[in-house]
Amino acid sequence: MRRFDLSPGREARVPPAKRQEDPAGTDYSYSRQFSAGRMATIEPLAPAELIEVLMGRRAVPLPPHPIPIPLPLLGGSRFVIWKQDPSVGELGRRLVLVPSLVVNGPRDPRIDTNLVGTTPVTRSAAGDFIFPADTPEADCAHTFAVVRETLTMYERLRGGIAIAWAWNIGGNTDPVTAYPRAGVTANAFYSRSQKALKFFYFTPPGAGQPLYTCRSLDIVAHETGHAVLDGLKPGWLGIGNPPQTGALHEAFGDLTAIFLALSQLDQVEAFVAITKANLHAKNYLSALAEQFGAALGRSAGLRNADNDLKLSQVSNEVHELSQVFTGAIYDILADIYAHERIQQGKVKDPAQILLEVAHKLCRLLLEAIIKAPANGATFADVATAMLTISKAQGDPPAYRTFIHTRFAVREIVVPPVPLTASAIGQMDYGDPNLILGADEVKVQAADPNHPSLSAKVPQDRSGCCGTMQLPEYARAPDKLQAELQRLGQEGEVIPEEELLAGAVAELRKAFK
Ligand SMILES: [Zn+2]
Repeated sequence: MRRFDLSPGREARVPPAKRQEDPAGTDYSYSRQFSAGRMATIEPLAPAELIEVLMGRRAVPLPPHPIPIPLPLLGGSRFVIWKQDPSVGELGRRLVLVPSLVVNGPRDPRIDTNLVGTTPVTRSAAGDFIFPADTPEADCAHTFAVVRETLTMYERLRGGIAIAWAWNIGGNTDPVTAYPRAGVTANAFYSRSQKALKFFYFTPPGAGQPLYTCRSLDIVAHETGHAVLDGLKPGWLGIGNPPQTGALHEAFGDLTAIFLALSQLDQVEAFVAITKANLHAKNYLSALAEQFGAALGRSAGLRNADNDLKLSQVSNEVHELSQVFTGAIYDILADIYAHERIQQGKVKDPAQILLEVAHKLCRLLLEAIIKAPANGATFADVATAMLTISKAQGDPPAYRTFIHTRFAVREIVVPPVPLTASAIGQMDYGDPNLILGADEVKVQAADPNHPSLSAKVPQDRSGCCGTMQLPEYARAPDKLQAELQRLGQEGEVIPEEELLAGAVAELRKAFK
């Protein structure tokens, strides 16, 4: 053997691979660290080969190319997260890598954590935040990691563009602060005026242990979804919008939880195996907030994305309405997945196809929401935007057939052709050119007089998560707008007393 030193003047060496014990029980860290000097080893030519070369029958081998020395990488930090929540035992916890810089807190430029007596949580010498499951440190790490993963998912879908929080205007860069144990109550919320995501805990009747909402991937992702959407569409949270706009906020939260799970390789693989690649099989993915739901006596989670609800079957209560939209998107996901499995089943694993389909649909939904009106957006507005973008980006016509048909089955938009058995689940899923009626991109509301479309109908948010019930969003739209401007001034937070100011002023008049 001959050895060539590729780094003149340096001592060449390759240190042995390091193995670190992982407190979570599994060793994930086979990290090889290369020093600046590198050795390349090449095999000498065998005598017969050498004769071939000398006789001119074979090209002389080129001298070895220098091997580029890799730049040092920012390693990122490892966290342990619940794959769904502590009640979904078959999945449990897993190690994740947050590939960006996270400092003690955990904190980064966009997300901070706050738990009195616990934060800032110190990272290990290796930069990791790994703690035993039932500790406040683990809850801080889990909450941070899931908020971070949610924001990262949407930023990746936007081509790496940073998504601003609602108050990041006029140069403001304040992060959102996550409170993993904000207090005792059965709820969680996103508050714009406090620049906060708050997760509460409670002890369900008959249970010995408290239930921490911050340990649910679904709940943390849902609330972060509200925060992301408020940054993109600050006009949508105010109660002066039609009920459907409020429902879009709730639905976006639930869909965020589903798409976050479907952006994680191991989750997708487990999901495909458990359901035999049938998205309509009873599953943990479409069941949202299982542990929280079980504490309230609901066996299929707090709510189920795989539902059949139509507009005529729900009340005008915003959370009920949201399930119609969420259900339509879930059906579209199932349809496109069925289509792509036929198209690509022979060349790709079903889990890989699902990962790609979910990524595509989530991006389409996100872009459609961005394209929808700044105020008073309806389900039909988002459907029209999805169809328009889908056509512009050259998706197969079948995609638009699935989108149009599913929104029509839910009685949201006028159907492309009268709905028959062929249009409700018995379509030719393998045909990429499947078109029912014209390939229309502008769709009309099926019932323009539906009360959920009227801004005059007060929004009933009694069944929603804590976010939608906060008094801060019940104020007049101009107040919310002014608040945004104030929040944009560095460091500003709107105190709760100020939210009561209107009511107190009324009382002052009455008590004269
Ligand atoms: Zn919500």
